[in-house]
Amino acid sequence: MSKLKELLAEKRESLQLIYGILLIVLIPVLITYNTIFIISTYNDSIDTDLQLKMRLIGRTMYADLQEDLSDQAKIQTKVESIASRNNELENVSVLVPQDDGYKIAASSDKDEIGKKVTFYFYHIAWDKKDNDCLITDSLQMATTEEGQELALNPEVKGRFWMLAMPMQDANGTKQALLSIRMSSAVVDDLTRESRNKSLGILFATVIITIFFLSITVRLWDYVVLYKKIKEVDQMKDEFISIASHELRTPLTSIKGYTSLILEGDYGQITEKMEEGLDRIMTSTSRLESLVEDLLNVSRLEQGRLSIEKKNIEIEPIIEEIVQQLSVTAENKKLGLTYEKSAQKLPLVSADPDRVKQVLVNLIGNAIKYTETGSVTVTNEIQSGKLRIKITDTGIGISPEAQKGLFQKFYRVKNEKTESIQGTGLGLWITKQIVEMMGGDIFLESIEGKGTQVTVVLPLAITGK
Ligand code: ADP
Repeated sequence: MSKLKELLAEKRESLQLIYGILLIVLIPVLITYNTIFIISTYNDSIDTDLQLKMRLIGRTMYADLQEDLSDQAKIQTKVESIASRNNELENVSVLVPQDDGYKIAASSDKDEIGKKVTFYFYHIAWDKKDNDCLITDSLQMATTEEGQELALNPEVKGRFWMLAMPMQDANGTKQALLSIRMSSAVVDDLTRESRNKSLGILFATVIITIFFLSITVRLWDYVVLYKKIKEVDQMKDEFISIASHELRTPLTSIKGYTSLILEGDYGQITEKMEEGLDRIMTSTSRLESLVEDLLNVSRLEQGRLSIEKKNIEIEPIIEEIVQQLSVTAENKKLGLTYEKSAQKLPLVSADPDRVKQVLVNLIGNAIKYTETGSVTVTNEIQSGKLRIKITDTGIGISPEAQKGLFQKFYRVKNEKTESIQGTGLGLWITKQIVEMMGGDIFLESIEGKGTQVTVVLPLAITGK
C-alpha cells in the first residue's frame, strides 16, 4: 500500500498530465458524439414522418382518382390540380403497363405524357396488393439494384421520396400505377439549418470546455500548492511547540540561579551586581511569558489546549488574581480594586485555571497600558450570564486600532505603546480560551481616557 502511494507520489506530475489530457480529449469527444447522435436521431424521425405523410397523400389520391380510371382526360385534370395544390409534390403521374414497361397516361409534367418507362421500382410496386404502396427515398434507390435506372428524370436534383401504388378498377383488376415524387428540400433545408446551428453550438461548447478544463487542470497545481502550504504551516506549529518546550527548561534554570545569587547563596554581591541581576530577572521573565504565549498559541492551533469546565465560585478567583497583581500596580502607583457585587454570585461554569489565565492577561494589560489612575474589576449578572468588567483609566485605543484587536500578533503602534513590551498574542489567546469555555469577550475604549474589557461567562446549571 505504502509502495503504491510512493509510486503515485513519484509519478504524480505525469499522472496529472495524463489526467488533464484525458479530460481535455474525452469530454469534447463525448459532447460531439452526443450532438451527432441527437442530429441523426432527429433526421430519422423526420424521415419516418415524411413517409407517413406520403402514404396518406397516396391513399387520398387513390381514392380521388379511382372512379375516373377509365377517363384519361379527367384523370389528367385531377393530377394537375393535386400537384398544383401541394408544392412539395414534384411529380404526380398515372402509368399504365405496356409491354415490359409502363406508359405515362397522365402527369403533372405534361411533356412526360405518352413516354414509356422501364423503371425497376415500378415493377416491384405493381406486385403490391390493393391499397398497399412502395415508398423509398432517393438515397436508398441509388444503393439498390445493380446499375438499374434510378430516377424517372435524370435532371431531378436533391433528395426526394418516391411512392408507387397499383390502382384497381371497380372489378378489382389492376389498371394503372400511381406514382408520386415528393421533394425533401423543405425538410432537408430545415434540418441542415438546425444541424449547422447545433454544430455551431457544439463548436462553442467544445472550445469553452477545453478552456475550462485547462483552467481546472491548472487548479490542480493550486491544490498541490495549498497542501504544501498546509504542511509548512504544520511544520511551523511543530517548530514553535518544540522550540518553546526546549526554551522553558533553561529559562527556569536561569531564573532559579539568578534568584539564588540575588539572595546571597553564592556569596555576597555588590549593589552593581544586584542591579545587573535584576535586569537579568526582568528579561528572563519577559522571555518566559513570550515562551508561555507561544506554547499557548501552538496548543490552541493544534487543538491541544485542554479545558476542564467545573461549577466554580468566581469571586475568590478574581480576589486571588487582583491580590497577585497588586504589587505590579503598586509599583506603577496605580490603584487596583475589586468591587464585589452586593449579593452573592451564582456558580459559574468554567475552567478555574483558564479563568485565572484570562484575568492575569486582562488585568495585566490594564495595568501595563495605564500610566496614572486606577484599574477596577467589577462583576454583574446580565441575561443569565456573568459579566466581569476590567476598567482602566489608561491610554485607551483609537477606533481605527480597535479593528485589529484580538488578532494574532496584533499590537497598537503609537508613541505611547512604543516603550511597552508585548507580543500581541495575549488578547488572541484570551479570546480563544473564553470562547472555548462558551463565553464571549469584547472591548470598549476611548483613546486617552481608558479601556473596559468585558468577559462573559455562562452560569452553572445547578438543577435547582
Ligand atoms: P500585548 O502583548 O502587546 O499586550 P495583547 O494581545 O494583550 O498584546 O494586546 C494587543 C494590543 O492591544 C496591545 O499591544 C495594546 O496596544 C492593546 N491593548 C490591550 N489591552 C489594552 C488596554 N487595557 N488599554 C490599552 N490598550 C490595550
